[in-house]
Amino acid sequence: MSGLRVELITIGDELLLGFTIDTNAAHIARTLAEAGVEIVRRTTVGDEADRIASAVREALERTGAVITTGGLGPTSDDLTKPSIAKIFGRKMVLDEEIAAALELRWRARFPGGTFPATNRSQAEIPEGAGILTNRHGSAPGIWLEDEKGQWVAMIPGVPREMRGMLADEVLPRIKPLLGDSASAVISGTLRTTGIAESAVAEILGPNFLGEPGTPLGSLSLAYLPGVAGLDLRVTAKGMARMEAEALVREAMLKLRSRVSAYVYGEGDVDLASVVLDQCRSVRLKLAVAESCTGGLLGERITNIPGSSAVFLGGVIAYHNDVKRDALGVREEDLRRYGAVSEEVSVQMAAGVRARSGADIGIAVTGVAGPGGGTREKPVGLVWIALNVSGSEAKARRFHLPGDRIEIRQRAAQAALEMLRRAFIKG
Ligand code: ATP
Ligand code: MG
Repeated sequence: MSGLRVELITIGDELLLGFTIDTNAAHIARTLAEAGVEIVRRTTVGDEADRIASAVREALERTGAVITTGGLGPTSDDLTKPSIAKIFGRKMVLDEEIAAALELRWRARFPGGTFPATNRSQAEIPEGAGILTNRHGSAPGIWLEDEKGQWVAMIPGVPREMRGMLADEVLPRIKPLLGDSASAVISGTLRTTGIAESAVAEILGPNFLGEPGTPLGSLSLAYLPGVAGLDLRVTAKGMARMEAEALVREAMLKLRSRVSAYVYGEGDVDLASVVLDQCRSVRLKLAVAESCTGGLLGERITNIPGSSAVFLGGVIAYHNDVKRDALGVREEDLRRYGAVSEEVSVQMAAGVRARSGADIGIAVTGVAGPGGGTREKPVGLVWIALNVSGSEAKARRFHLPGDRIEIRQRAAQAALEMLRRAFIKG
């Protein structure tokens, strides 16, 4: 259906050896699929002129359309441009306009210095090439096309620069090549938390979206568990964009209606921002007391722009003395019930709320492991308490799976979810 088939080549020794994870390839593949481009192959090669050239030559033979990332910088391991220029039989020439822009940018950063010749080499481009503007960095991208319409788009390796250039410069050039009948890969994601994958599978059963052969049945449903919870992704492909979008919307509604209690949002929404919106809409201020999460909950909250309107701060009360002195947890309760207990979590939440002047105090205390677990208090045991002014304190016990890092992340997510539900229940 789609008229455009593209190959992707990511370039760099670090990628080849696995020291850098190839997130560029994933991002480009997703973005292009969404736009209706068919990605037929992804390749990774090291920083070696011959290997880059042969990978690009072979890809061009198959599809005539190639996107590369990486190797555009000014250093000696940046070989992408000359290697590909050679395939097209083009010389490298200095583009004075780019050189001047690079120098200007450099001088703004290092006033008074001498502009290095290596940086000037970034302004060398294959003769006759189109320039892809880089709004987030220095190295411009290159669009090289021959008289038969075969093309290579070279974009930077730095992910932020790559994303910007793909959206602003490459997609607008690709869209006209797609033709009218282009089919898109459209998906929608429902984010749930606080329910196990198997429990959701039980609720939904087989062929939940629709029997095979029906329009909704042609969609795929993926279960994607992670520390934030379970994402349910619905994907439609092989049909016209409008139809795909309508079916995905219908499927999302159908899914939502079955697991609504656990759904906190769609797409890539962060639970922390959902909770902050809830707090903001009723003008409640929030403070946190964290033991096993060690600041992770505060980090999740302060990652969200505008969190200062809601979030006052918190106490990382790791040692019992800090639980006692900074939060007012009773010494005898610490001794009697232990730091990971309902009583202590409740006092931590009350303490941080009272001492910060917040309306809501939330506290987390648990055993993150790998050591320190006992039969009564195994690794993964976490108590989370919520203290909202004017209502009774609530505490919940969790037994969270995973290693130390996952337990801490799940605990922060569980704390946010407890708060979200408190708002829903009123
Ligand atoms: P620069 O001008 O910074 O040298 P460049 O276009 O030459 O940019 P590279 O040198 O290949 O790009 O990579 C720069 C950095 O970008 C790498 O250190 C790496 O962290 C990141 N990077 C490169 N390629 C990828 C990729 N495919 N996926 C994720 N990150 C990448
Ligand atoms: Mg580089």
